[in-house]
Amino acid sequence: MTSCPELAEVPYNIDLELAVRAVKKRKARRVVLQLPDGLKPYGWRIVKCLESALPEGVEVYLHLDSTFGACDLHYGQLEVTLKPDIIVHVGHSPYPAELAHPALEPRAASIVYVPALSKAGVSRKAVAKAAGLLMGHGVSRVGIVTTAQHVHAVKSVASALRVLGLEPLVPRGLTPYLTDSQVLGCDYRLPRSISSRVEGFLYLGGGVFHPLGLYLSTFKPVVRLDPYKDDSDDLTGEGEKLYKVRLSKVAEAMDARRWGIIVGLKTGQYRPWLIERLVKAIKGAGREYMLLANEYTSLAAIISVDTGWFDAFVVTSCPRLPTDDLWEYEKPVLTPGEAFMALSGKLEPYRFPW
Ligand code: SF4
Repeated sequence: MTSCPELAEVPYNIDLELAVRAVKKRKARRVVLQLPDGLKPYGWRIVKCLESALPEGVEVYLHLDSTFGACDLHYGQLEVTLKPDIIVHVGHSPYPAELAHPALEPRAASIVYVPALSKAGVSRKAVAKAAGLLMGHGVSRVGIVTTAQHVHAVKSVASALRVLGLEPLVPRGLTPYLTDSQVLGCDYRLPRSISSRVEGFLYLGGGVFHPLGLYLSTFKPVVRLDPYKDDSDDLTGEGEKLYKVRLSKVAEAMDARRWGIIVGLKTGQYRPWLIERLVKAIKGAGREYMLLANEYTSLAAIISVDTGWFDAFVVTSCPRLPTDDLWEYEKPVLTPGEAFMALSGKLEPYRFPW
């Protein structure tokens, strides 16, 4: 695989050897390769590299549907159509089965999770800026949080912060799902486990979804160190603004009589345990509900059923939908944690996301 020069241009180090070993071990003849959207433009090179290392006759399908996370493996459709011997899922670690449903576990045996680690580095200048922003909040002990693409850089960032006078704390991983410091947009158990021992958090990675979720989960200052921009910024203010918006939606939903419970059909987004609890809470509060199931909930999907019947919606699939994609909808669209708050008539403590 190291003899595959095309991979040099891919901005992530992808451990394709792991995939090759798994395919050979399982004597797989049909392989489905899943890449995150950011890696799809390199699909041709990655597939060609993989094929060159596989025994002759092994078919590789590059999966073009979205794979937002390991919650999104599509194995329901794959099992009745292509029936692959193995799914090679790149860029995400296994989705925590306890957040989804029990059937997620056994099927994992025919899935191989291949890390894709970002080649983007961070300069001393960007780390120093992050340290300054944290110190501006009076932070001396700082928790480090990241996503699967940057876990390999956590140690060096921690050492750099230490040199700059901060005391970094790296939360221990959650075997077998998350490595040290790693969060998912729907799972902040790691930072919460150290929240009482730190005054703030450094988020290593790009985008705002994870760092804002981190703020909503801990209410501590959050500074982002972005390896893609090699720069740092303070997202605490944005977190505070988002919190206020979310609270106003919870308050609005307190009077909702008719609820739509959105049930996710993606492999890791179907959460029967959560649906059961929500149904119980809605019935307990003397309200009505309807179960609405789909794979991906767009604004158009909500509008198509909301002909004046629903007062509020709760999304049990992915917390990104209510806080990001659907936040502008005229009626409250809540995360499950927020729905429990509204149904109990309490604005605190804030619960995110479940
Ligand atoms: S945040 Fe959404 S997309 Fe990401 S792992 Fe969780 S359910 Fe999947």
